[in-house]
Parts: sequence; C-alpha cells; structure tokens
Amino acid sequence: MEIKYFEFMKHLIRFNRQVYLDHNATTPVSDHVRDKMDQALKHHYGNPSSFYGIGRKSAELLEEARQDVANAIHADPSEVVFTACATESNNAVLKSVAAHFYPKKKKIISTPIEHPSVMNTLTYLEAQGLVVEFCPVDDKGRVQLPELEKLVDEDTFLVCCILANNENGVIQDIKAVTKIARKHGALVMTDCVQALGKIPIDVHTWDVDYASFSAHKLYGPKGVGALYVKQGSPFAPFLHGGHQESGLRAGTESIHNIVGFGAACQKVEKLLKHAGQVRALKGQLIQKLKEIKPDCIINSPVVDSECLPNTLSITFPGVENAGLMGILDYRGIAVSAGSACSTGEDAPSHVLKAIGLSDQAARETIRISLGHETSARDIQYMAQVVQDYLKGQIPFVNMLAPAQLNETVLFSEDTYILDVRPPDDRKRFKGLPNAHEINPLYVEHYLKQIPRDKQLVVYCPGGGLSVMISYYLKSKGFKRIINLRGGLDAWRKQRSDLYEKYAGHNVQVLEPDGER
Ligand code: PLP
Repeated sequence: MEIKYFEFMKHLIRFNRQVYLDHNATTPVSDHVRDKMDQALKHHYGNPSSFYGIGRKSAELLEEARQDVANAIHADPSEVVFTACATESNNAVLKSVAAHFYPKKKKIISTPIEHPSVMNTLTYLEAQGLVVEFCPVDDKGRVQLPELEKLVDEDTFLVCCILANNENGVIQDIKAVTKIARKHGALVMTDCVQALGKIPIDVHTWDVDYASFSAHKLYGPKGVGALYVKQGSPFAPFLHGGHQESGLRAGTESIHNIVGFGAACQKVEKLLKHAGQVRALKGQLIQKLKEIKPDCIINSPVVDSECLPNTLSITFPGVENAGLMGILDYRGIAVSAGSACSTGEDAPSHVLKAIGLSDQAARETIRISLGHETSARDIQYMAQVVQDYLKGQIPFVNMLAPAQLNETVLFSEDTYILDVRPPDDRKRFKGLPNAHEINPLYVEHYLKQIPRDKQLVVYCPGGGLSVMISYYLKSKGFKRIINLRGGLDAWRKQRSDLYEKYAGHNVQVLEPDGER
C-alpha cells in the first residue's frame, strides 16, 4: 500500500523556509571543513602512533591541525591538547587542577553563569570537600571585578571564568580577571567555546592557564574539542591509557574530526572579518522586534565590546517561550530557550536567573543566535513570524504548568488526554493515566476520534512537539486545547507522587482511520 503524503507533514512544511538561528547550540559543517574531512576519511586512515608511511601521514595531519588551532587562539602548538569535546576539556582541567592543589588549597572561584559542563563539575568537586564560591554578576552578566577582588584569597588555587556566555553573549574582561587571580597566585581557566570565531582569542596576551574550545561551534564537526594548557601549568591526564597527545590525553586520535577542527580554525580570520555584518543584522532584528513589541527586554549587553556579535537574549513579557518557539519551529525557524542542554526541562535557566530574571520572565525568554550564513531576508522573516504571532494572526495555544496537572484535571469527565509521544519515549516511560495514544506522524488520521467538546490536554516528552500538534489541531477547528508545558518529563519531576500512583493506568491506543 502506497503511503499517502500526510496532511500534517504538509502543514508542517507549508512555510518551508528553513531559518537556523541557533548557532550557539551548534553550527552547520562548512563545505571547506567537509572537504578536508572527506579527504581524511578517504585516504588517511592510519593510526598516527604507527611508524609506517600511512601512520606518519596521519601524524602529519594531526600536527597541522594542532598548528591551525594554535594559530587561531595565539598559542604554541605544544600547548594544544585535542579532546572529545569541550565538556571533556572543562572536566579535565577542573578535576586535575583540584587534585593537584587539594587539600593544601581548597578554593575555586567561579561565576554563576558558567556552562553546565563547568557548573556540574564544580558541584561534583564541592561534594569531594572543595570550596566553590561564585562571584556576583550584574544584570547583563558582567562579572563584578571589585567583588572578585574580595573573594580571591591565599586559599584560592583557581579562578574559572567563562569568556563569552552561551545564553546572552556577555563577554568578560578576562585580562582583568587574570590580573586579580595572579595577585594571589591563583591559576585561571576560561571556557572560550562560544568565543572562537566570533571575537579574537589571544591566550598568551591574556595570560590564562587553561582554555577550552569546541569545533562544532565554528562550523566544524561535533565530537572534538581542544584544551589549551599553558606551558608549565599543572595538568594531569583525565583519561589514562596510551601515550597520545604527549601523554596528556590517551586514546587514538579522531583524525578526521581533528582535521575538521583544524580546517574550521583556518577560517577564523574570515569569520572575524564577517562579524561586523552579523552584528549589524542582529541590530536590525533588535530594532524590528522592539517595534513589534516595545516592552520587550534585551538581556544581552548593548555595548558591542561586551557582547558576542551573534547572540541575542530577549524577553517578551506575557508571551510564553514554548508557544513562541513552537510557532517559530512550525514556520521553519530554529531558536532556543536558554541553553540547548536545558531544553526539555521546565526549570528556568540558571544564567537567566543569575542576571536577575524571575522564573516567569525566564519562561518568556528566547535566545536567537545568528551565523555567518544568516541573511537580511532571514531576519525579516523571523520578525514577520513574531509579528503575526503577537498580533494574534497565528492562534495562541494555552499552556498548562506541570504542577497544575492534578487529580482533578486528570480524572475530570471533561478532560481528554492526548499522548503524542514518539514510540521510543513510550517504551521508556509510562504515560499519563486515561491518555489516548496516537502516532504523531499521522495526526490527520485520528481527527474523527478526538472529541471536539472536551478539554484536550496534549502532551509529548518535552513540551515542543505537542505545541506543534496543538497548532495543527487548532487549524482543524479544535477549540479547547491545552499543552502540557515541559511535557511528561517536567510532570514526572514535579508531580512524582502522581506519576508513581497513576502512570500508565487506563491508557488507550487509538487506531488511525482509513488507509495510511
Ligand atoms: N561551554 C560552552 C560555553 C558551551 O556553549 C558548550 C556547548 O554548548 C560547551 C562548553 C560544551 O561543548 P561540547 O558540546 O563540545 O561538549
């Protein structure tokens, strides 16, 4: 039986422009990088630790890439260690430096706006007995240097400060941070993941001890990171095994990925030259969004030197980000709420909270991050969709907070629960009681079975897909729809009592109508 092209899918691609505005989450791999990686995969499969010809060729590529990365960050190649990702780089530095100093010295000073790969490692170290203190930041995320002066003392062995934040783009004065740390003999680590390719990096001039980088944020492949370790700064391997990376990181090097990282770094100068245009486009977008919603709040610093050229964190008071992101996605536009790592969760981002946003404001905030391929047309389109949505030309979908989904709502005669989770999530977790499971790919084949007079509660794993399906149902005349914010994931966490008691009870699997 031939599968018909589904109406729902047509609905999804009606506006089939794809506008990617989430470059801080990751970037597309550039043609230049892909070509170099293809060559490496095709021809250079040798193990760089092998002494025969094809091994030596791989070793040569490895060292060329190391030179490219070193050039891009103004380091010596001997100071660059390849890792599997920046998360590994951050873990490796924090754990190894802590092991070097603790218990003689106990304190790490950091900021409340670090990436989770730093934050969660610091939490781990705290549990081992170390002391972690956070220097306050202002409403744009700028580290308060006088407060840092007060915090760093003789017991401090490391100051860990992100160079450019992934959520609002704030750039720290890392030279000033280093100066303060040095006064007390503390080392400095900086997460430069978001900065490389967007602002100039000069680890030698800044005099930092450690810096982390990741290829996939600058049009390189995922799964390869780099770590700068200043000559002479203490560092012990995170992974033990072979003698690769001068004994600092065991494991056969991922040559094609490393080649891709090197190729991406070859284009850093070009990216930096283009940064002014990216910043200008961001400026145009801000202006348009301010015209559309004059009370919007810009959470990113407004001074150019204090903010990444591509990053905009913006709050639309009274507009839930899940609904807005759902409609943007429906129109082919990718943006994010907070960091990619925290999507799917209902908890507001720790960065937005640190810069003073309330939980509600954080839920009304989106992050837009442009790339070098973003065009003026993309910006115009994005603004148009936001305008249509806010003017009510695209209907709103109501949201239900997970805490509000209680027994009264769950078991009301008036409630009809629609489970639109993909099959793999259903295998992992039991769903809401009394739910009606449908296959989200064939929504149009269930329309006759879904009651029009009841209150529909639509839910998915994380709260994104259900928004899109809710819009589809709205377009089909269903009037009473609420979408479970944060999805089953959030409800399981916030109402674990109800989940324990009722999950999976009385679930019905609906059969689609007609031919599929
Ligand atoms: N640090 C920052 C600031 C980031 O934005 C990210 C990725 O989102 C990371 C670290 C982790 O990088 P990776 O994906 O290479 O582990």
